[in-house]
Formats: sequence, structure tokens, C-alpha cells
Amino acid sequence: YPVIKTEKLKRYYNMGDTTVKALDGVDIEIHSGEMVSVMGPSGSGKSTLMHLVGCLDSPSHGSILIDGEDISAFNEAQLAAIRNRKIGFVFQQFNLLSKTTILDNVATPLMYARVNAAERHRRAENALVRVGLGDRIYHRPNELSGGQRQRAAIARALVTEPSLILADEPTGALDSKTGEQIIELFHELHKEGNSFLVVTHDPEVSAECQRTIRLRDGVIEEAG
Ligand code: ADP
Ligand code: ADP
Repeated sequence: YPVIKTEKLKRYYNMGDTTVKALDGVDIEIHSGEMVSVMGPSGSGKSTLMHLVGCLDSPSHGSILIDGEDISAFNEAQLAAIRNRKIGFVFQQFNLLSKTTILDNVATPLMYARVNAAERHRRAENALVRVGLGDRIYHRPNELSGGQRQRAAIARALVTEPSLILADEPTGALDSKTGEQIIELFHELHKEGNSFLVVTHDPEVSAECQRTIRLRDGVIEEAG
């Protein structure tokens, strides 16, 4: 199965007497081990697509399959379970808990997976070593640079061994050199077999991906 497959995916928002067609029939397939970017102008539906693929929202019409499983009609609890098992999230602003050590930040997703504390810490430390932060595990986010914070966020996305890592403007808050290092890290993780879907405005980031899906007005302009 593809990691992600959508069929005639639609997401409409009802705004009073008008309907906003944020996505209007989108078919995509992301295969295991792929690294794909999503580009498109503001308002083209990128966030809506990310929310659907990330199991944070449900379609108005059409279907979305994760590892072959149709989640289109799942309720909140079912979506949360799939999300915690299958999707790792990386955000522009890192979204780390500021009063918590990097180790505990990275271990947090494992709490939903009923992994015991010792094992959570072992796996979190492992993930931090993989992103080059093995010597920073007891630091708090404000004691790290932007690039280090994003590495920690990437470790948090990896720690559950998800089917797909969804990254929303992962270099948007970083200077260009640090951004390049983050994309280099994605490359290394990609070579190890991880799958990525990266929303970006940055053509240099997009160029580093195997293909680019271009959205415009809620439809695919180009699937790469
Ligand atoms: P970005 O373009 O950085 O992904 P957002 O996803 O926050 O930004 O918003 C994209 C567009 O969607 C904006 O035009 C915004 O006004 C609109 N939007 C986002 N959330 C809502 C909402 N709850 N109600 C109405 N419009 C929204
Ligand atoms: P992008 O991320 O590419 O900027 P979005 O997916 O945020 O695009 O938005 C696509 C369209 O859907 C826009 O017209 C936006 O205003 C609208 N939209 C997004 N979220 C909402 C919402 N919660 N309520 C109403 N309209 C929304």
C-alpha cells in the first residue's frame, strides 16, 4: 500500500451562505520511502491537505487511506489513535514545551503509546542521538539555537517510528544556512527509509525533494 492515498478528496467550509472549496477533488499517492514537497500560493489548500493527511480533520467528500486503511469516516478518537501511531509532525515554530527538557519533549509522543518511562527515555535519547543532539538531552529549548530546536522537534517526530513525517514550513523560522542543515538531516533520515511530506514556500527546499505536488485553488496543478 502507499503510505498515503487520497481519492477525489474534498474539504468544503460552509461560511454563512457561501461554501469555500478549500480542496476540490485531490488525488495524491505517497509511497513508502518517498520525500515529496507540497507547494502553492497562500489559500491554495496546503494547510487543509496537511490537516487531512495528519488525521486532524475529516473530508467533506472522497477518501483518504493511510497504509491502505480508509480513515475518511473515523471519529475523533480513532483519528487520534492513527495520528499517534502513524504520523510525525514538524512545525515551523518547533512547538516544543519550553519548561521541559529536550529528552522529555521527545519522549512525550510515546506516552500515548503506553510505553513505560524507562523505555520512553531510552528511545528518546536514541532519537536525539540520531539528530545530533546526544549531548544536549537535559537542555531546555531556550538553551538551544533555532536549528537545534528544530532537530529536537524532528527527533520528537521520529521517536514513534511513524509511517510519514509531515513537515509544515520546517525551515521557515531559520536562517538559510541552518535551513540547509535541516534539509540535509531530512535527507539522511530519508536515506534510512523515512517518508516525508514537506509543505514549503522555499524553492530550494522543494528542489531537494524527489517530487513536488503543486496546488492551486484546491486542485492539483502538477503532481511531480
Ligand atoms: P498559511 O497560509 O501560512 O498556511 P493559514 O493556514 O493560517 O496560513 O491560513 C491560510 C488561509 O486560510 C488564510 O487566508 C486564512 O485567513 C484562512 N483561514 C485559516 N483558518 C481560517 C478559519 N478558521 N476561518 C476562516 N479562514 C481561515
Ligand atoms: P494554504 O495553506 O495553501 O494557505 P488553506 O488550506 O489554509 O491554504 O486554505 C484554503 C482555503 O480554505 C482558503 O480559501 C482559506 O481561506 C479557506 N479556509 C481554510 N481554513 C478554513 C476554515 N477553517 N474555515 C473557512 N475557510 C477556511
